[in-house]
Amino acid sequence: MIQYGKHVIDASDIAAVCDVMENRFLTQGPAGEQFESALCQYTGASYATVVNSATSALHVACLSLGVGSGDIVWTVPNSFIASANCALYCGASIDFVDIDPETRNLSVDRLQEKLDKAKAENRLPKAVVVVHFAGLSCDMENIRQCLENHNIAIIEDGSHALGGTYQGRPVGNCRYSDFCIFSFHPVKSITSAEGGALLTNNAALAKSASMYAKQGTTKDTASFRSLEGYPWEYEQQVLGYNFRLSDIHAVLGLSQMTKLDSFIQRRRVLADYYQSHLVDLPVSLPTESDNTESAWHIYVIELQRHNRAAVYQAFLEKGFMLNVHYIPIHLQPYYQELGFSKGDFPVSEAYYNMALTLPLYPGLTEAEQNSVIQILHEVLI
Ligand SMILES: *Cc1c(COP(=O)(O)O)cnc(C)c1O
Repeated sequence: MIQYGKHVIDASDIAAVCDVMENRFLTQGPAGEQFESALCQYTGASYATVVNSATSALHVACLSLGVGSGDIVWTVPNSFIASANCALYCGASIDFVDIDPETRNLSVDRLQEKLDKAKAENRLPKAVVVVHFAGLSCDMENIRQCLENHNIAIIEDGSHALGGTYQGRPVGNCRYSDFCIFSFHPVKSITSAEGGALLTNNAALAKSASMYAKQGTTKDTASFRSLEGYPWEYEQQVLGYNFRLSDIHAVLGLSQMTKLDSFIQRRRVLADYYQSHLVDLPVSLPTESDNTESAWHIYVIELQRHNRAAVYQAFLEKGFMLNVHYIPIHLQPYYQELGFSKGDFPVSEAYYNMALTLPLYPGLTEAEQNSVIQILHEVLI
């Protein structure tokens, strides 16, 4: 069965993991810091903290920004639930900004409207989690412009977008944000099996992120509040968590970083091939704008008049298990119980009703991709 995404692991990845298991620290060794340096070098961000998932990274980002009870966080409905759950973990409440139908990313117009209304009602958010859907960066410069006068923090959920660019610079450089977080789940640009990272250019936020991910502790004696500073001491200053990434995971991520550019290149070739072979069909295709290069995490088409479940079923019968990204977060029962309703974010809902994610990953063969294109032509014409 062919699925929408799949990792690529080669002999050098396996050798790196075996080397850790046979010869090195399994956790809290040097691999985490090496992975962090590689992420900084690739993106241009000043600081990176690796953690055990992007979900943890989002949680830590919110904690480090001081998000807490009484605060509001905004994100988009068209994302994985983790983009919203992070606010709730901190005791804050969540609200959503609808998407732009072309980019399927946060709509800057809707954001501005909602800001004006929130300002009038004195209900401005503390932070906004923007999601680079399918690997395409949001319009960060304009988003920043909307938010900076109100002192609202920006977290980029870059889970899809490692390897993509915005204004010619790598996503993750944090030029317009407080944090950018990445995921290393096997379907993403690179994998550490499970894993995530927070990038930032702000030294204080980096320090705070590292603390929250390590039980709220620091070993930096210069910043101790009351302990003497003996070499064995660590000081707990906040309530943190164990969100550590083991060295086994970190060394796999580090090994995968060396292949990131070739993975993205291959994804781009496949995406271009879909673009040119699906133009004649009654579907809407993904876009890139002048100043963005997508990391092509997923390739999503929107049907115009066909029944999505029937198309999905036709693929299943031919050995392809497609996917749909995303069920709007506010339609999940948990979020409905918080007071959201169908109809609240109509662009995300209309998009979702027709969306279908085709297989796209570096190991997808030409023959497999041609089958996908052929099935679509059979089913849609
Ligand atoms: C994958 C993903 C996450 C969560 O990543 P994990 O590493 O599995 O916790 C969060 N947000 C988005 C947009 C994702 O695609």
